[in-house]
Amino acid sequence: MNTDTDDSGDLDQVLAEVTEHAKPSADDGKVADYIPSLAEVDPNLFALAAVEMDGTEHATGDSGVAFPIQSMSKVFALVLAMQLTEDDGEGVSEELWRRVGREPSGDPFNSLVQLEREKGVPRNPMINAGALIVDDILLDHCDDVRGSMIELLSDLAGEEVGVDESVLQAEGDTSSRNMAMANLMASFGNLHHPVDDVLGAYIHQCAISMTSLQVARAVRFLANDGTDPASGRQILPPRLARRVAAIMLTCGTYDAAGEFAFTVGLPCKSGVAGSIACLVPEKMGVCVWSPPLEPSGNSLAGRVALSELSSRLNLTVF
Ligand code: GLU
Repeated sequence: MNTDTDDSGDLDQVLAEVTEHAKPSADDGKVADYIPSLAEVDPNLFALAAVEMDGTEHATGDSGVAFPIQSMSKVFALVLAMQLTEDDGEGVSEELWRRVGREPSGDPFNSLVQLEREKGVPRNPMINAGALIVDDILLDHCDDVRGSMIELLSDLAGEEVGVDESVLQAEGDTSSRNMAMANLMASFGNLHHPVDDVLGAYIHQCAISMTSLQVARAVRFLANDGTDPASGRQILPPRLARRVAAIMLTCGTYDAAGEFAFTVGLPCKSGVAGSIACLVPEKMGVCVWSPPLEPSGNSLAGRVALSELSSRLNLTVF
């Protein structure tokens, strides 16, 4: 590891110290409560996992406990859409970036107001509306969007991943706002498939269940110019992998992307279950999980952990 700090030490030791430093801050956060399985989660669960490019794995705490990946799935849906550009031509890319932007939203991830003001074109693919557009495009090109997501994630995680059926059911029962966004975009002509189909694909990807170690493995290819170091398979060409990382950095942590750039300085994507996936270019994939959230919707202890890890090992990309 390239570290400029004196106290980097062994990575296992660093992760243990970072865990000890970050975990207490979870007490000041609040778990998501819009569905029972998130509301009832033990707020003291904590996991920090890092997988290096050579496959060496490091983990602390509850790194073997699975949770719904929720919004982190937006990264992988975008990856599938970008793969289409390679397979089906530049037209897909042009369409994608005509129908969804690449700017931080500056509004909550599920804001309807911004969508109305901006005529049904979501700010970026990391907010709900943007992810719905990505799924709408995937429905045009993939026979089985749900299967493609599971296949990609299982492949990258190195083991079969599945869906948490109770989360899937509950997400479906509480999707009024996402449905409203989809309908609003349809009214502007920016949604081509039936709302239920698009929402079905989106809810399914949110309910995919993974451990922090599996997520850390799965994001590694984005820190490795698009090639999965485990299999040697090119998931995305380098230029597209870097674009996904750029979108994660600028848009991946809800309305706190500036704060993350400032304190962590690495591409990250959060999920409402309290997980944050993080890329350390050319070094490793990281995932932290601690359910209590800060007001922007990011894991509070997760943010503290990544900031501490980044500063101890001097990992910032800036
Ligand atoms: N299922 C959640 C929603 O669509 C995911 C949100 C998130 O993780 O940010 O509202």
